Amino acid sequence: MGKLIVLTGPSGVGKGTLLTALLQNHPEIYLSISATTRSPRPGEVHGQNYYFLTKSQFAEMIAAGEFLEWAEFAGNYYGTPRKAIADQIAEDKIVLLEIEVQGARQVRQSFPEALQIFILPPSVAELEKRIRGRGQDPEEAILKRLKQAETELAAASEFDIQIVNDDLNQALCAIEAAIFN
Ligand code: 5GP
Repeated sequence: MGKLIVLTGPSGVGKGTLLTALLQNHPEIYLSISATTRSPRPGEVHGQNYYFLTKSQFAEMIAAGEFLEWAEFAGNYYGTPRKAIADQIAEDKIVLLEIEVQGARQVRQSFPEALQIFILPPSVAELEKRIRGRGQDPEEAILKRLKQAETELAAASEFDIQIVNDDLNQALCAIEAAIFN
């Protein structure tokens, strides 16, 4: 049997950068590709970053029970397709989900043996700077993400491990230690 790792933390905390570095160091890790109803950002590719779906396509997948978990986040839907995860775990792979808090809670119910890691920002001010600094989202979306970030930070203690992403390398080492201990 493989291993399921859930990586969570507020938008802008640097999960994406940490993931890229982690996958570079450990290409054997399987990163789950989520489905979303959000529009692609410049450079994002369907089937690579996300499966970009319409709301009705997403609703069909919910109805068919095809998601391991799904949640609404900042006005869009996001979900983890169940089948790829099950296949990879059956093949002894380490499977990584990068999802928000509500989805992580659902995984905790259905997959209690999953390792749940929460990434914290060095401070709330730094988080706001990073969310704004991305410069790709409209102001309304930024405000939604900031509000959501507050709620998410309050949930940090529910997770097995909390890692502060101040120095990227230190945070990466802490994640590697948690996964490969
Ligand atoms: P973004 O729009 O910035 O790509 O992602 C917004 C939030 O949705 C992030 O916190 C990300 O971790 C989360 N997310 C991405 N995919 C999924 C998923 O499949 N399920 C859930 N619950 N959250 C997801």
